[in-house]
Amino acid sequence: MPITRLTKPDSKFRLDDVSTDPPRDATKQEAAERLKELGEELLELQELMWGARTHSILIVLQGRDAAGKDGAIKNVVGALNPRGVTVSSFGVPTKEEREHDFLWRIHRQAPRAGEFAIFNRSHYEDVLVVRVHDLAPKALWGERYGHINDFEELLAEHGTIVIKFFLHISKKEQEKRLLEREENPSTAWKLNVNDWKEREHWDEYTEAYDEVFRRCSAKHAPWYIVPADAKWYRNLVVAETVAETMREYRDGWLKTLERNGKAGREELDEYRRSRGGRNKG
Ligand code: ADP
Repeated sequence: MPITRLTKPDSKFRLDDVSTDPPRDATKQEAAERLKELGEELLELQELMWGARTHSILIVLQGRDAAGKDGAIKNVVGALNPRGVTVSSFGVPTKEEREHDFLWRIHRQAPRAGEFAIFNRSHYEDVLVVRVHDLAPKALWGERYGHINDFEELLAEHGTIVIKFFLHISKKEQEKRLLEREENPSTAWKLNVNDWKEREHWDEYTEAYDEVFRRCSAKHAPWYIVPADAKWYRNLVVAETVAETMREYRDGWLKTLERNGKAGREELDEYRRSRGGRNKG
């Protein structure tokens, strides 16, 4: 699957060079079939990771309003065992959160070993909305790219597999989705005048995102730019990417499980020997 994956800083990257459409040869039907297979694989991989407790997963989801963050979350989480999965949404910081450094509220939601954490928005808002709307002095947010890189490196060193997705929609698709919300009573609750106001800052957000991708991409915390104008393709790319990333750890998790199983059996045998045979009753 041809997908834009950023694994190192690249001062020339431009979001506008990446298409928001699925590749021409991708079909909705094939995607549905593949998604089903991926769902089963993800569940199996999650069980192995849960048992091994050597790693955790952090999925960061960023995107403009109506890019489909909720839909993507529903799709990934739907495939998983809810045990050990957390979804955290980061909105406007509370008073208490504002009284700490910007990573304080984020770090507390990072996943424990064996678990999956999904971030609906994230620490990146502190160099996106904060930058576009001058919510903090440049001297402050300008330092955050480095802090973010150090933070993600720290997580990775402690076994967290960091996967970052930008759901990439076109300006036209966003307009269509926002208008649809107005017409459909079942989605009207999502209406938010702020979405239209933010839309006026489209180009400033593009610049802010470009800087994020240029500066905060690393092998241990890559960005994936997901063409998101078609929801079915967006879901496929996210699921495929998570499965592909986890697959690399599969053998290691299996070995850990085998080792732990062996140790457990030995302990049990020892216990039984000490009781003079199999424990009765
Ligand atoms: P969503 O749009 O993700 O469905 P909301 O409608 O609750 O959820 O919007 C959350 C809002 O919080 C967004 O406008 C986002 O830009 C804002 N936000 C998130 N993090 C910060 C931050 N650190 N500082 C200021 N605003 C933030």
